[in-house]
Amino acid sequence: MRAYLQANGGSRRLTDEETEVCTADMTGLQIILIIIEIFAKAKIYLFLFCRRQIIILAKFTEEELKAVFITSGAFVSSETAPEGAYVPEEGKIAVLVENADGERCDRCWCYSTEGEKTEEGFICARCKKILESL
Ligand SMILES: [Zn+2]
Repeated sequence: MRAYLQANGGSRRLTDEETEVCTADMTGLQIILIIIEIFAKAKIYLFLFCRRQIIILAKFTEEELKAVFITSGAFVSSETAPEGAYVPEEGKIAVLVENADGERCDRCWCYSTEGEKTEEGFICARCKKILESL
């Protein structure tokens, strides 16, 4: 890979060392994008046993929780966690992760059952509303 640095109206070829650093950064960016894509495929259920945690998280809407966790669904419950839920701290929280429902939105990458297919792909209802307001 040959990379060039453009600055102050000119450009020069990057040294091998600089190219290596840029390649490493690209790999880091690709890893981040993969992680975001994996999270977007998920919906999570948080089972909380602490009354204070429940009160705090109950103030958030599902849309807000989805944005916080970068998932396609996020739900909070005070019920007993089902079998198979991950329990990182015994007695305080349990997390269940499932595949998100619906299709992947080409704008936000989240999965949704609500939206529409266009010539460019699938757009979720939330993104459609945003695009219409522009
Ligand atoms: Zn979307």
